[in-house]
Amino acid sequence: IHHYRIKDKTEVENKYKFGRKLGEGAFGTVNVVEDKISHLTWACKVVNKTKGSVSTFEQLQQEINIMKQLNHPYIVKLHEVYETPKKIYIIMDNYDGGELVSKVREKSFCSEEDVRIIISRLADAVAYLHESGIVHRDLKPENILLSTEDPEDIYNIKVMDFGLATCKDSSTMIENICGTPFYMAPEVVDNLGYSQQCDIWSIGIMMYLLLVGYKKECEILLHQMITNRKIEFPDDYWKNISVGARNLVENLLKFDPAQRITAKEILQHPWINGENGVSTNTT
Ligand code: ADP
Ligand code: MG
Repeated sequence: IHHYRIKDKTEVENKYKFGRKLGEGAFGTVNVVEDKISHLTWACKVVNKTKGSVSTFEQLQQEINIMKQLNHPYIVKLHEVYETPKKIYIIMDNYDGGELVSKVREKSFCSEEDVRIIISRLADAVAYLHESGIVHRDLKPENILLSTEDPEDIYNIKVMDFGLATCKDSSTMIENICGTPFYMAPEVVDNLGYSQQCDIWSIGIMMYLLLVGYKKECEILLHQMITNRKIEFPDDYWKNISVGARNLVENLLKFDPAQRITAKEILQHPWINGENGVSTNTT
């Protein structure tokens, strides 16, 4: 991946035509850009280097360094980086299927098979990150995009936004608090020092909500259970859900990070592998 250091934005603007805005995050704006020669389209995130503090600038460098290393089917792909004295242009694959959260909310119902596909892919991506010594720290459905490159595959997820990600070896504890409160693991909230297992908690929150329905009342219920430090499975929502799915959620949402299932173990879980009455036959 090329990282071009250039004196001003003319070079980027000569190469790419800037199109509509795709989104806006805490640090920058993301637009569609079109290569003027190849006519290929990409997503370009522009971040102002001079805005924000030294630590946000260091975090941005970290985000770019992490994205450069990553090569996985379910993780956003970086194409090139342009850096001027004032701004950084991050050119990546453009995913036009929107955020996973919108897809899930627009469908009134996600089947167990849908959830199995989403969670196994997410675990695959997270196992790869953890093996590479990277902790995402901000996993949530808003940070998962959908690619439409294969129209048959409606859950072609792409994990993105490495803005809070960090590199670590699994023996050391991370100390600064960050993340999005609702998806944050209890050990992160309590500032006890935490490891890569905080990402697994976030997967658990997503899986619970995907199964019972991604709606406000369920979010409130789950939030109350976390506050009371007891995850429950009320019949109203869970009576038609398989024991295998429930068992995986129980293992994802363990308050003690040492007891919580690892990303690699998720991939070995019977429910993920189509046992416990859930068929893997997607035809
Ligand atoms: P920030 O770090 O500032 O929060 P993000 O990386 O989360 O910025 O990007 C902001 C928004 O831009 C995302 O929520 C998403 O809607 C859109 N976006 C980001 N990257 C892409 C991409 N590669 N393809 C399509 N849309 C994207
Ligand atoms: Mg974001």
